[in-house]
Amino acid sequence: MKAAVLSSGRSATDPFLQIREVPRPTIQPGHVLLRVVACGVCRTDLHIVEEDLPPLQPQLIPGHQIVGEVIEGATHELPTGTRVGVSWMGGVDGDCWYCRHGRENLCDHPTFTGYTVNGGFAEYALARTDFVFPLPAGLDDVQVAPLLCAGIIGFRSLRVAGVEPGERVGLFGFGSSASLAITILQSWQCEVYVVTRGEAHRKTAATLEATWIGEEEAKPPVELDRAITFAPSGKVVISALASLRKGGVVAINAIHLDQMPSFNYDTLLWGERQIRSVANMTRQDARDFLKIAHDLNISPRVTAFSLDDANRAMMGVKAETSDGSVVIVP
Ligand SMILES: [Zn+2]
Ligand SMILES: [Zn+2]
Repeated sequence: MKAAVLSSGRSATDPFLQIREVPRPTIQPGHVLLRVVACGVCRTDLHIVEEDLPPLQPQLIPGHQIVGEVIEGATHELPTGTRVGVSWMGGVDGDCWYCRHGRENLCDHPTFTGYTVNGGFAEYALARTDFVFPLPAGLDDVQVAPLLCAGIIGFRSLRVAGVEPGERVGLFGFGSSASLAITILQSWQCEVYVVTRGEAHRKTAATLEATWIGEEEAKPPVELDRAITFAPSGKVVISALASLRKGGVVAINAIHLDQMPSFNYDTLLWGERQIRSVANMTRQDARDFLKIAHDLNISPRVTAFSLDDANRAMMGVKAETSDGSVVIVP
């Protein structure tokens, strides 16, 4: 099959991914083999190819927002041809303390799709049967792909931040994940304040009718109840913190930050303000979000690339020039 393959120790001048023929995965017990119809590109994929996250495999097929059709390993619940989604969380051990306490997103022995195992930048992909989600009809294959990580983990961020209906919420950074979260916030009658450096991203926020939009380092004109940061930058976390009312919460939706700068406790964190990280997702987050996405008819703005153009797709995410989400269609 054709796949986009990352080799560890790639030099900075090489393309991120090599497009080449590799053996098609063979079916394993407890798994389904999928024919990939689309796979979203997430900022985490960029952290993997740029080795901000340490390489775990000498050769890896990234991609963890997979839309596929079951072609082998069908079960009663997942008959052949079922359209399913696969997300970042590709499996858990099921018996560590976190799994036993309903916090499988923090599992001690997780499988991450497109990182610890091969993902979906390919014509076929293998996935654990208990970690695939039947997808609501209505959304087309390409539009549903960004919901599978950007959407689900963006939704989890709103939960971690503790957003209540009608609150003032800041979104710091406005890529794929934030552009999906804003629709949910608006359905909860929240005011949404967007701070982002990318001009394309500010335009998207305007189209999506954010309450207020500012450039990087601009401060929202009101104190925020909650803020979610999406940029992989510690400086942005501090800006978000500086925008909060007393008792407010910043949730960091980023698997990797450049660094956390030192900051003034007395003025920024005192007053029971909180900083929380958002790690991975549970299967319940996925089910809940996919239902909301269906009910709200969330339809992401998507730019599609062929598998041959996977490097161009990755560059689009890196340069923050894309409007909405980027998806690879094999
Ligand atoms: Zn576990
Ligand atoms: Zn992701």
